[in-house]
Amino acid sequence: NDMPLEYPVRPSEQDWSDHFPAYFRTQQQPASAARPLSPGAEPQAKRGPAGSAHTAQPARVEFADIGCGYGGLLVALAPLYPSTLMVGMEIRTKLVDYLQRRIHALRTFQHALGPAAERVDVRSKLRAEFAAPDSTEGLHDNGETERLVPGHYDNIAAMRINCQKYLPNFFEKAQLTKLFILFADPHFKRRKHKARIVSATMLAEYAYVLRPGGVLYTITDVKDLADWNTKHLDAFPLFERIPDDELENDPAVPCVINSTEEGKKVARNNGSKYLACYRRIEDPANL
Ligand code: SAM
Repeated sequence: NDMPLEYPVRPSEQDWSDHFPAYFRTQQQPASAARPLSPGAEPQAKRGPAGSAHTAQPARVEFADIGCGYGGLLVALAPLYPSTLMVGMEIRTKLVDYLQRRIHALRTFQHALGPAAERVDVRSKLRAEFAAPDSTEGLHDNGETERLVPGHYDNIAAMRINCQKYLPNFFEKAQLTKLFILFADPHFKRRKHKARIVSATMLAEYAYVLRPGGVLYTITDVKDLADWNTKHLDAFPLFERIPDDELENDPAVPCVINSTEEGKKVARNNGSKYLACYRRIEDPANL
């Protein structure tokens, strides 16, 4: 059985240091400087493993992948946005455990190998060093190699949460700049529709944690779910659909379409992919 979920009572009490040790000081700190950070306090950016700061900005999670599964999106985005912290949120313990090990392995090899890392097949090393959960069989283990690209993986993390319950406990209002909902479970039966990740209630929470100008990405291979998602998003006053031609300039979009394990499975089976991306617009009350 799954462990009970742990969640902070408010975002300022969330301790990110285990997730992003390269960005948050954890050791040799006076007690007065220990987390949790008080509201409004700026987390300190720690020097990165190569001795250079990853970012001059205070560390703060800006991207969230809802139902991240095996984490293919985060692994693809990490080197593309090297100074952005991103978190994958997943309800299934086995998957979170797997992804945390995957990220740990990527970091370890990247740090140890430096520029030579590009030539290493991390996935086979990962397979050899960690036992993947049974259920990953056939999904991640499809003969592909996982190669490190120049950059680092200190900026991605996985955590276990039920996104339908605790999202505003983790993120401040307008904290996020990107939210991803990729190949969500379709929940075909009508009585299961309330379990869908996109709903009027959930859109209010996504709009709360996304800052105006931020983007919500959705993609699915299930036409019925795609229609459901666009119906709810089109009707929601704080989101507007981004036209396809604008999406061509967004470097995250190819990752959204191609980099997740579920997306790769759909491609192998020649399935369709329905992409719909929405911008969080300014709250009319603030204009
Ligand atoms: N996004 C990944 C991909 O494209 O490969 C995984 C897709 S998988 C079909 C959907 C994932 O959402 C599952 O791993 C499931 O456990 C997770 N999930 C479903 N409901 C959730 C919830 N309320 N909170 C967090 N994760 C959830």
